[in-house]
Amino acid sequence: MTDQAVSIGDGQPNLFAITQAQLDAAAEVLQLDPALHAVLREPMREMHVTLPVRMDDGSIKVFKGYRVQYNDSRGPTKGGLRFHPKETIDTIRALAAWMTWKCAVVDIPLGGGKGGVACNPKEMSQGELERVSRAYIRAVGRILGPDVDVPAPDMYTNPQVMAWMVDEYSILQGHNEFGVITGKPLALGGSKLRSDATARGGMYCIRAAAKVLGLDTQNATMAIQGFGNAGQYAAILGQKMLGATIVAISDSQGAIYDPDGINPYRAIEHKQKTGSVKDFTITGARPISNADLLELDVDILAPAALENVITAANAGHIKARIVAELANGPTTPDADAILYANGIYVIPDFLCNSGGVITSYFEMVQNAYSYYWDEQTVDARLDAKITPAFHAVHNRAQELGVNNRIAAYCVAVERVAEAVRLRGWA
Ligand code: GLU
Repeated sequence: MTDQAVSIGDGQPNLFAITQAQLDAAAEVLQLDPALHAVLREPMREMHVTLPVRMDDGSIKVFKGYRVQYNDSRGPTKGGLRFHPKETIDTIRALAAWMTWKCAVVDIPLGGGKGGVACNPKEMSQGELERVSRAYIRAVGRILGPDVDVPAPDMYTNPQVMAWMVDEYSILQGHNEFGVITGKPLALGGSKLRSDATARGGMYCIRAAAKVLGLDTQNATMAIQGFGNAGQYAAILGQKMLGATIVAISDSQGAIYDPDGINPYRAIEHKQKTGSVKDFTITGARPISNADLLELDVDILAPAALENVITAANAGHIKARIVAELANGPTTPDADAILYANGIYVIPDFLCNSGGVITSYFEMVQNAYSYYWDEQTVDARLDAKITPAFHAVHNRAQELGVNNRIAAYCVAVERVAEAVRLRGWA
């Protein structure tokens, strides 16, 4: 399949078509039963809502919201909520499918879901953001619940948004229901280490990948594309947990490069003050383009922002030894083939960034018992979940002679297919 084949016409590949094509490739390798395959190709349930919200100037603005419950054969659906101006139902469907494979590949007893509101939080006040968050829960709350479907943060949503949402849901229920949402602040039943969990899980994957490749991460260089939650923590933890030198970082406005290393804490401070890392050059870094960052000669490249950034156009120029996909869907199928042919070791998104949902699952367990774990316990249990999952995928790729993404699909799809079959759905 080519990127063109799944284009939606404006040159941007359709993400949902990409997830289906990836599933098709795994189904072929697995010789999956056609009925099972057909069930797994589509979301089981979705809700589209219209949210009229009063803005600060007194006007009413109408937003579109979505929640997709892709597959709940292994447990309640689980997955984040995005507030993004370009949100589309197909993007949410794709992300919900990936959540299904993500929970299955790391073997946590959850299905996959995703949701979002098409809005631009960068242009909204805190009050407007709160009213959109509450309106969303009033509209979709009837299909959520700790045993049904449990949202979490994703792009442009955060613990404060989760706090408003859990409050609104609790008001609707007439009692506190902290387990309905994860990624909450600690004061409202959040889990220790949830905030850095996506990056932390990625570091455990990189550590394991470096081991199988014989790469010493203490001498490794790392470039990070995207400087939101995952990117910022990847910079901090890349240094702290792996001993790597962070030589390049970027955000939507620009990128900087310093072969001697960038101090992540100072870069974060700069971004908080100015809105971007692009002119954080005071310590000797120089500005480069976002495109150049992806093609740097580094040991580890971590795309940690949007989808479809590694494409057929630039994949051939990527020099990193390891591509650690902290974002969802950063690599198109055409690019995948090129990276694989060039011997670049890709840690596929739904494995590499699964630390977030693993820790969300721990948060759900802690909420259910109303008994909270310390940092060491969360950290050790995260490691114990994600590292064996990495090795299962790596070994499957070696056995089958396929790339890591298809191998990850094989591990995940087998598990979901077994649950679907046992339940008698196909
Ligand atoms: N939004 C995150 C993801 O894409 C976390 C989802 C969750 O914790 O439920 O994996």
